[in-house]
Amino acid sequence: MPKSIRRCPLCNGCHSKLSFPFVISFEGEQYYYYRCSVCGTVFINPLPSDAAFSHMYANSNYHEVFYQDPSTCAYDGSAEILSRFAQSGALVLDFGCGTGTFLDSLRRYGFRGVGVEFSCEVASEASRRSGCHVYQVHEFFYHSQPPKFDIIYLGDVLEHLRDPEETLAKLLTHLKRGGLLMVEGPLENNHSPVYWAAFIFGSVKRFLLPKFIGPGVPTHLFRTSAKAQKAFFRRVCPRPQFLLWDVYETGWPYSDRTLVKRGISFLSKVIGGRGIGDITFGNRFRAIISINKY
Ligand SMILES: [Zn+2]
Repeated sequence: MPKSIRRCPLCNGCHSKLSFPFVISFEGEQYYYYRCSVCGTVFINPLPSDAAFSHMYANSNYHEVFYQDPSTCAYDGSAEILSRFAQSGALVLDFGCGTGTFLDSLRRYGFRGVGVEFSCEVASEASRRSGCHVYQVHEFFYHSQPPKFDIIYLGDVLEHLRDPEETLAKLLTHLKRGGLLMVEGPLENNHSPVYWAAFIFGSVKRFLLPKFIGPGVPTHLFRTSAKAQKAFFRRVCPRPQFLLWDVYETGWPYSDRTLVKRGISFLSKVIGGRGIGDITFGNRFRAIISINKY
């Protein structure tokens, strides 16, 4: 067990306890999951080292595994939604652009795109594919003077950041006054039959095999709910105005599994996006936020 537990990356709360999915092992290191007692976000502890990060995000380990089938990625859909809120020709920063698929979609919808990517190899691939300029992360923040952007986009990126608050604050200094922040990502700790089933299965397994540590890759550094994610944006963004806040369900990762899991996935999709009180069912969110800096 780790000696010290870091603060919650979303609300900065300092009290937490071990929670589902408990612990995984990656390259000989064990990563534990703690649940924040303030906002309910579950976060990984300790953070992966620089070496682990480099290995996880090498093209052959990540992008070639998860993002090579364009049919599984709703990039054009995201660009179309953005086009309802922004004018053609707007300059868009795609932070964490991967191999450049969304940059390609942006171009088709009349936007001008610029990318930032962690891996040098992946940044080169993104630039080649999209024809857009793509910075490496350290180059963007420390070695260049990038332009101010009309829109900053983060698609499935926040949960990969060691310090999402710090990175978002730095990124927003590159946004024009009155610019838009568009963010999409998973809600792996939100109300959904898929999540409830996974939580129950995982908790029973933990009870029966308390010392079992399965393999895993610590790419997602936190798992949160719609409520905690929205509260994070309200806390970190200057005078945020939500032009779009959409919670929806994909049934992942149960949609192509056994009959029982497919049934749970179907039920999740049926109730996804609906709500009771301040709860909205779903496993993903999409936000477009107008940032009104002083
Ligand atoms: Zn928290």
